[in-house]
Amino acid sequence: MSALASARGAVIQAVYFIAALLFIIGLKRMSSPKGARGGIVWAGVGMLIAGLVTFLSPGMHNDILILTAIFLGGIAAWWSGRRVPMTAMPQMVALYNGMGGGAAAAIACQELIRGRPFAAAPVVLAVIGALIGAVSFSGSLIAFAKLQGLIGRSLRYRSQQIVNFLVLLVTVALGAWVMARHGAAPPQLVIAFFALALVFGVLITVPIGGADMPVVISLYNACTGLAVAFEGFVLGNAAMIIAGMVVGAAGTLLTQLMAKAMNRSLANVLFANFGEGAVATGSITGALKPIEAADAGVMMAYAEKVIVVPGYGMAVAQAQHKVWELCQLLIERGVTVRFAIHPVAGRMPGHMNVLLAEAGVPYDLIGDMDDINAEFDTTDVALIIGANDVVNPSARTDKSSPIYGMPILNADRAKNVIVIKRGQGTGFSGIENMLFYLDNTRMLYGDAQKAAAELIQAVKAI
Ligand code: NDP
Repeated sequence: MSALASARGAVIQAVYFIAALLFIIGLKRMSSPKGARGGIVWAGVGMLIAGLVTFLSPGMHNDILILTAIFLGGIAAWWSGRRVPMTAMPQMVALYNGMGGGAAAAIACQELIRGRPFAAAPVVLAVIGALIGAVSFSGSLIAFAKLQGLIGRSLRYRSQQIVNFLVLLVTVALGAWVMARHGAAPPQLVIAFFALALVFGVLITVPIGGADMPVVISLYNACTGLAVAFEGFVLGNAAMIIAGMVVGAAGTLLTQLMAKAMNRSLANVLFANFGEGAVATGSITGALKPIEAADAGVMMAYAEKVIVVPGYGMAVAQAQHKVWELCQLLIERGVTVRFAIHPVAGRMPGHMNVLLAEAGVPYDLIGDMDDINAEFDTTDVALIIGANDVVNPSARTDKSSPIYGMPILNADRAKNVIVIKRGQGTGFSGIENMLFYLDNTRMLYGDAQKAAAELIQAVKAI
């Protein structure tokens, strides 16, 4: 190898190392809402320099084709990223994540078809990466289609798990065959393996309820990371290995966190039909008691302490700006206002934090469930805005409830509870909420944004 080539190799590896550091710093900064935007820029710069330096790699061909693909992909991502509403973010993440898994699987497929002699370890990693990446690709596309409403009810039939298991078995057998050929497998065999892995991704995802998709997307995100890392080993690309491992670890932790916050095992998410066709559980007594915005406004304006509990309905209504405007009025009147965030409020991790940050709510007013739960006992008004499951007390008491055991926000322990929602719609779990029937609860019916605007007028009128 000439001195020039070895210097070039050293520069490439050094830049990959810097890129990996930027990914890690970016991820670290994303762990708090304050640093999250900056974190995305750090990680993005890492990705940019890793991408650029790859063009210096020996044996790079088809530069024009690659640049055209990057340009077209970049335009599509820019355009869709700017247009997507916050409520459609989970399906957007599913789509992007699926592309990562698909790219990793395609690299593996191409390397295996190319038929270059593989050492034992890389061929094993290429095959496992292809399997995981392909499942993540087709599974994520199904998740996207479900969340986007392109696919309706979950497809379930008798012996489904057996069929899925058999397909997996044949796929793994083909993969083992490819491995055994050490890079000299016939292309038809590689393609059959790849195609079956894609089919398995579809089969395992179609029975899962649309509402469970965020957990599944997070799981596929972890899978994509692993697949990319494995293919990084195959290509000898340090940036891919580190970025893939970081994404794999983060996705795994996030999946665990979401399943834990819903008090469900991952197996339950993947194989149970949660939230579809669920019925009211437990014996609910009492009646729903409506309240007018004017009365609710007075109640809050003269309160000492108000805790706001945002949920999925606030996201749907895009009510965060009005809600913050209302809270500012209350704060000006001397009311102590705080926001209580449940880890799975909304439809994606951090959903509420993002919305509140967008509206300019200071971070010190926002409390996580564990920090704020004890404060409800001394709160005059708990204002529930489009939240349902995360404040359902049956999670504590009703063993037959699908959400039994899920930790909830103790809103029912506040002196008064005002619930903003449009009607009698259930939450994600599909069950009734006994909080709405308690003596200290009043229902303020209407779209969250409109109701918040009415509350603003009511407080201003005092
Ligand atoms: P829920 O889905 O339980 O309830 C949302 C409520 O908002 C509904 O009862 C609905 O009632 C109301 N609503 C809908 N649109 C509007 C509107 N425009 N204005 C006012 N109200 C509205 O939300 P939560 O946030 O309480 O709970 C989240 C659920 O999602 C949990 O069960 C969680 O496990 C699940 N989940 C969360 C994930 C996450 O990562 N955050 C991932 C996967 C699942 P109505 O129709 O009467 O208006």
